[in-house]
Amino acid sequence: MAEITKNQIVAITIEDMGTDGEGIGRYEGYTLFVKGAVPGDVIRAKVLKAKKTYGYAKIEEMLVSSPDRVTPCCPAAGRCGGCQLQQLSYQKQLAYKEQKVKNCLQRIGGLSKQALDSIMEPILGMDEPYHYRNKAQYPVGMGRDGGPVMGFYAGHSHTIIEQADCAIQEPINSVILKTVRDFMKEYQIPAYEEESGRGLVRHILTRVGYVTKEVMVCLVLHGRKFPYAEKLTERLKQAVEGFSAESAQRKEYMQKMEYGNVWETEVPLKYSLKSICLNVNMERTNVILGKEILPVYGEPYITDEIGGIKYQISPLSFYQVNPKQTVRLYEKALEYADLSGNEVVWDLYCGIGTISLFLAKQAKWVYGVEIVPQAIEDAKHNAVLNSIANAEFFAGAAETVMPEKYQESGGTMHADVIVVDPPRKGCEQSLLDTAAAMQPERIVYVSCDPATLARDVKYLGEKGYEVKKVCPVDMFPMTGHVECVVGMQRKHI
Ligand code: SAH
Repeated sequence: MAEITKNQIVAITIEDMGTDGEGIGRYEGYTLFVKGAVPGDVIRAKVLKAKKTYGYAKIEEMLVSSPDRVTPCCPAAGRCGGCQLQQLSYQKQLAYKEQKVKNCLQRIGGLSKQALDSIMEPILGMDEPYHYRNKAQYPVGMGRDGGPVMGFYAGHSHTIIEQADCAIQEPINSVILKTVRDFMKEYQIPAYEEESGRGLVRHILTRVGYVTKEVMVCLVLHGRKFPYAEKLTERLKQAVEGFSAESAQRKEYMQKMEYGNVWETEVPLKYSLKSICLNVNMERTNVILGKEILPVYGEPYITDEIGGIKYQISPLSFYQVNPKQTVRLYEKALEYADLSGNEVVWDLYCGIGTISLFLAKQAKWVYGVEIVPQAIEDAKHNAVLNSIANAEFFAGAAETVMPEKYQESGGTMHADVIVVDPPRKGCEQSLLDTAAAMQPERIVYVSCDPATLARDVKYLGEKGYEVKKVCPVDMFPMTGHVECVVGMQRKHI
């Protein structure tokens, strides 16, 4: 293997893509990870960091551009940490994500290539892979001149790139950002400064309902009061309500962006400001949200709909960010759950009960478990909102609640179907042990990280569960992330 040192420049061909969407090339057996490079590029790479067998490099010079390269839509692409793949054609992004799921299930999950070829469904991609996000969390910081800067974090850092428009956000989120930014400048409201721990405004969180077009603005503060809150409310109302489908402002915005918007094709746009609240975060931490919510205007939630079911969403609750694809994801989960109406279902990591209520219509009883108490409050409320009486929710860690309830029942607690949808770190073994002990006929695993999915699938395989179906879903176009639904069946020996 070649010996590589920092600042060395080597010519390489990019052959593969890493977990964060970075290009991977080899120089005499030495592996280099190159941000922004795509498979097919031939480049001169400058080494930024050299380890023994691998290193990180940047593109020094493009020698031959990959045929799969496209011009990114966003001026901040390449600097902003939000997207990693804008420079790669969407078809290739999908192919890459499909391959990523396959590789993980093969290498970590222990499934054979032949098995995967027969059980894997093609990835569900988007027709219009831009402007899909219903939620933004803009970091706010102090600029050199003492004024606020806000936008997005650069990749792997807390440097804020000043950018309001975003190729993957529903444009109303940018409108809110600009309104708050201008207001803070006018009224000299201080941004929070990470280094000193001083100042006020830390983040601006916005959410918009896909069907309802209800808008929420949540200001994350190092403090409990936003000065001139009433004046800001008026400004935000004007800005939100003025940004309808017919507005000149929106038309101008969409023309500038030069591509379609998935939100335009649905019901006519009529936004309404439903909620302004404050989130108090006094900690010196990079965790965005604190625990306390103080209402400023309207309700402390917005409502949205997925597949005809209404959901109330609070600022602290998790809600899928790509509404167009969420329906497809849940429909896949429902298909793999294969319900006839007689089943008892457990939905673990249920958030505000989205999957639970989606399944409840076709099951006998659904139990949901979720760690964030406010999300469980939302879930209970959502059951009532939709007149669903066969769903019950418990607040707590899934790996604690399930084993405890199973123990209490003396091992008699049963499920016909168990659905899990954990965060990236996947499921605790204690949870998987209990799930398997309950002997459900089917387990549906919804995952946002194919590596931990594959690890857990392997473990469940040892407990008697066989993977029957796999379907990747592109919930996050332009980024390296991929969502996946897996249907598992109990082996009868
Ligand atoms: N199924 C939901 C939420 C999925 S996101 C939906 O589709 O909307 C994962 C959820 O798991 C989040 O709501 C998070 O708060 C929750 N969570 C994280 N760790 C948990 C744990 N140990 N036990 C239960 N829920 C957990």
